[in-house]
Amino acid sequence: MIGYCQYTKEELLGRFDPETHPDFVRIKTEFASHSNHYLRREVAEAFYKMAEAAQKDGLSLTIVSSTRNYTRQKTIWENKYHKFSGTAFDRAHRILQYSSMPGTSRHHWGTDFDLNSVDPEYFNTPTGQRVYKWLRDNAWKYGFFQPYTPFDETRSSGYFEEKWHWSYKPLADLFLWAYRMMVSYEDIYGFAGAETAKSLNVIDNYVLSILPDER
Ligand SMILES: [Zn+2]
Repeated sequence: MIGYCQYTKEELLGRFDPETHPDFVRIKTEFASHSNHYLRREVAEAFYKMAEAAQKDGLSLTIVSSTRNYTRQKTIWENKYHKFSGTAFDRAHRILQYSSMPGTSRHHWGTDFDLNSVDPEYFNTPTGQRVYKWLRDNAWKYGFFQPYTPFDETRSSGYFEEKWHWSYKPLADLFLWAYRMMVSYEDIYGFAGAETAKSLNVIDNYVLSILPDER
């Protein structure tokens, strides 16, 4: 039986190196933007099946971002933090439109990745529209769903819509459950603006604020 206890707090918080973790594999460059993308083995296998099916329909799915550990997320976060101005709260709130605080990203889990482009405009192009429609119609068959859907009456907080971000539900659900059980605000520390995590309520408003049916 699989239970949340099989995952450590370090895995939930991204405090490990996917390159040396035994459950992670490197993604084939055929389906990735470079040769250094890692996902959990089970997720990679499901992704290959989906990408091959898309290929048969004339569409290419390319992973442009995969597992990011705490250190990588800290670099992304702090680059933005130092670029923006205003109070710590304002800066953090603005970064959180699209980027997670270190320790709170689904990309830490090895279950989630970004496809083709993280520019919302790409998904307005004819190719981007076809890719997204294909994913909407087919991703579920391979276990994948889009956690960051548009805001509506049931999803009123969190990241903006991300048509590029897909998640492997069979594993990610376990991670989300474990996160809720095991992680608290004391675990979110060590980067510029970390003191705003609690006032921004990042666990409830961001980590747990995904497509309502998936919570
Ligand atoms: Zn993403």
